[in-house]
Amino acid sequence: MSSNSWTQIRERLKASLPAHIFSSLVEPSSFFEKEDSYEISFPNRFTKESFEEKCLSPLKNALKTLSLDAKRIELLVAASNQESAQQTFIDPSSFSRFDPKYRFDTFVIGTSNQFAHAACQAVSKQPGQCYNPLFIFGGAGLGKTHLLRAIGYELSKNQSNLRILFLTSEAFTNELIQAIRIDRMREFREKYRSGCDVLLLDDIHFLAGKERTQEEFFYTFNYLHESRKQIVITSDRYPKDIQGLENRLQTRFEWGLVADVQPPEVETRVAILKNKAEEQKISLPDDVAHYVASHVTSNIRELEGSLHRLQAHASLNNSSINLDLAQQILRDLVPRLKHELTADGVLKLVALTFGLKIADLKSNKRARNLSEPRQICMYLLRKHLMMSLPEIGAFMGDRHHTTILHGVNEIISRSKTDPELEINISKIESLFR
Ligand code: ADP
Ligand code: MG
Repeated sequence: MSSNSWTQIRERLKASLPAHIFSSLVEPSSFFEKEDSYEISFPNRFTKESFEEKCLSPLKNALKTLSLDAKRIELLVAASNQESAQQTFIDPSSFSRFDPKYRFDTFVIGTSNQFAHAACQAVSKQPGQCYNPLFIFGGAGLGKTHLLRAIGYELSKNQSNLRILFLTSEAFTNELIQAIRIDRMREFREKYRSGCDVLLLDDIHFLAGKERTQEEFFYTFNYLHESRKQIVITSDRYPKDIQGLENRLQTRFEWGLVADVQPPEVETRVAILKNKAEEQKISLPDDVAHYVASHVTSNIRELEGSLHRLQAHASLNNSSINLDLAQQILRDLVPRLKHELTADGVLKLVALTFGLKIADLKSNKRARNLSEPRQICMYLLRKHLMMSLPEIGAFMGDRHHTTILHGVNEIISRSKTDPELEINISKIESLFR
């Protein structure tokens, strides 16, 4: 890449990224053009990973706009830094920076998460003093990482002298492996023990089964805990339920406070949607917010995803977000989210719709009125439950997978020309939404 095109790319990135992201992630990087790739190198892993998360797609867009997108993009940590313990491990820039998007005041509180929220806030006011460790657990997309970042953000704002390390357990593991490989264990330990005042470790369940990392973390934990340094850990499960995690760690995780986050109730989901819409200047009518919140129930990330889909469709159609659009769009999304949608449920609905017995659908009876409903079952199981042909065959009374394939294809081609069949199918589908 000539220096001139690099200047152009930087300009585009500068225009498309928030200023703090550009200055913390793009400015410290260096670009090199290779024969078939662009190499972008970063002073440390944290910068590289944050760049990957926040700047990669804007970069790809910029390259595309400038017609420079024929080569691969490779992100690296500068080799000199990788080998140098001084810089890899004790570089002050490796202390975490926190995206101001994830704050306590952008976190919507409901009965499902107020306890965890309060505990995190207490910790961010008096780290190391009230609950140590603080262990937050709950399902995917319920705000654990948001809370962890909010603690980091608050602390780095109010107590800028604190050395805060925020990372995933996966990153911790990789760093440990790297330290062993290049013989830098002393520096690794220094970084996570004497060099750290607050450790925010995300997704600890990742350590399950990783004995060497668990052992190292055990000593890290003890050191920090004895020195009254705050430790906050998140997990998708309660400590004792993490299989493959050493007992002595499970026990320690319960020493302080264990707080859970539960799926939010519908009012909280509406509030979250409205907040996100307002934050992103998306105009979201109340009826749509309620509609989305009542259909997307178990995961806040999905809730945000629906909002973005709605906005994308609205702007593509040059229309505003309205209930019609929401109904149309969530139609594809909802079946995947309804966890109670099961193979048995599909059969039951088809049987009900056609006034048949489930046993008859699974049987080998050759009655004419059975063959189409059977094929509809095959089609629905394939489409909505993503079952394989042999799985469907086994489920539908030991039928050969080619029979299933034929059945599915029959329905696909006939529903194009037979409006009654099409209506029947969408009627059934609407029932399990
Ligand atoms: P987890 O780590 O539990 O899987 P995240 O913290 O990554 O979930 O949350 C997923 C998304 O949902 C994030 O964008 C986060 O900001 C948002 N989110 C989760 N809970 C809330 C909440 N109570 N209020 C506002 N946004 C939330
Ligand atoms: Mg998370």
